Amino acid sequence: MSCCNKEKKDPPKMNCPLCKAEGEYIHYLAIEKVVKEELIYFVEAQNYYTCFNQDCEVVFFSEDKEQFWLIQDINLASDFDSITKLKKSNCGGCGGGCGSSCHK
Ligand SMILES: [Zn+2]
Repeated sequence: MSCCNKEKKDPPKMNCPLCKAEGEYIHYLAIEKVVKEELIYFVEAQNYYTCFNQDCEVVFFSEDKEQFWLIQDINLASDFDSITKLKKSNCGGCGGGCGSSCHK
């Protein structure tokens, strides 16, 4: 009956299965680019979300929450900066002004 469902323009949101923070949609092809080579096989053509909580080990999780990718599953040598939280994981509070010497 509902012939006029409009697609939402905002990216869909989903809460992280681990920390419950709100995650944002990310295309699975973007994940294939950054996970470790041996894990690419497991990336499916479905919706994934990114967790931005820097204290959370989950980087990506699938919409059904049956899959999630942890920091250790990510190939840190890849071009990851543009995608998620890891780019300043050592400089959470300083805004980057302290160079590389800051850590918890
Ligand atoms: Zn999380």
